[in-house]
Amino acid sequence: MVVDVQLRYSFRVYPSTGQRVALARAFGCARVVFNDALRVRESARAAGLPFVPSGELSRQLTAAKKTPERAWLAEVSSVVLQQSLRDLDTAYRNFFDGLKGRRPRMGAPRFKSRKDGRQSIRFTANAGWKITAGGKLRLPRVGDLDVKWSRALPSAPSTVTVVRDSAGRYFASFVVETGPEVLPTTDAVVGIDLGLTHFAILSDGTKIDSPRFLRRAEKKLKKAQRDLSRKAEGSNNRAKARIKVARAHARVADARREFHHQLSTRIIRENQAVAVEDLAVKGLARTRMAKSVHDAGWSAFVTMLEYKAAKFGRVFHRIGRFEPTSQVCSVCGVKDGPKSLDVRVWTCGACGTVLDRDINAAVNVAKAAGLAASACGARVRPGIVPAQREETGTHPKPSRSTAGQAGISVL
Ligand SMILES: [Zn+2]
Repeated sequence: MVVDVQLRYSFRVYPSTGQRVALARAFGCARVVFNDALRVRESARAAGLPFVPSGELSRQLTAAKKTPERAWLAEVSSVVLQQSLRDLDTAYRNFFDGLKGRRPRMGAPRFKSRKDGRQSIRFTANAGWKITAGGKLRLPRVGDLDVKWSRALPSAPSTVTVVRDSAGRYFASFVVETGPEVLPTTDAVVGIDLGLTHFAILSDGTKIDSPRFLRRAEKKLKKAQRDLSRKAEGSNNRAKARIKVARAHARVADARREFHHQLSTRIIRENQAVAVEDLAVKGLARTRMAKSVHDAGWSAFVTMLEYKAAKFGRVFHRIGRFEPTSQVCSVCGVKDGPKSLDVRVWTCGACGTVLDRDINAAVNVAKAAGLAASACGARVRPGIVPAQREETGTHPKPSRSTAGQAGISVL
């Protein structure tokens, strides 16, 4: 499917001291509007009243600006405040969709705090923001901000979000609508499995590890965390060490994003269709896989694959999380049951093929999506000839009908 896509482009911005004050005020106002609206909805819910619609919240906001308690809201762009209400609507929609099983379950919207690491405000086209001829970002009620343009915007952006992260850095994140940029067709297709031993495994047998620049950033973060734990509670040095940890965190996040970009671009360029397993990462939160899944940033990576597939006219499949990808032989399709995580290689009891756990799973992901991936990559050693198995009787004998039922239906 080829569709218009929204792309996000982030750039570092360097506000002056005065602009930082103006931004802090805007972050604060956006937060207050969000919290006021959340309180209105939560009070209604607690009183057993119907869900308060957005239009009503908007009317209450306009009225609040005329009261002495909230008059200062008029000091920031009204678009920023309206967008804060939109954010609350999105948070509720995600929450309700989670309850209905349309997406992974999320918590109910929560009150925002001044102490939250990440603060943000959004300006839409009607806010009157612009990029000046001199390459500055002009924001209403804030001023002209210096931007480090690390790459070109493909077309005029429709909205800009200004973010202050936990390390105290500022970013402008632009949303750009682009038409698809169709790549030349290729016959290659790929299934991708999240590895526990590797970041990702491709059905062609490629195992992908984190690149060195990411591992180095992670190592520095660990060291900064160690240093912090050794500093005395409440000391000046501890405060400094905490800032270092926040910066190291931010660098790891940047490095990880860069890695995800490089890898997702490569996979989309090289393949006509891509299949991944929907791990519903949030559902794993209580399992032992949770830590490695979160660390690996799998869901952020899958999101990139999905939008890049749309952007470049490729096919993207997400297969259901209940497909038992590690229980099925990718060569003959026989399902031979769960295997504990320490089993990395096993011999299929039906066809005798020696299979690599991770690659076998990646091939199964591709096949479950209906892609004609070759099972060759999964094969460590080909199976022995079936005649021998019949003669020796050392392998469980699958009847034809069992194999048919246990195999993946799309085979
Ligand atoms: Zn088999």
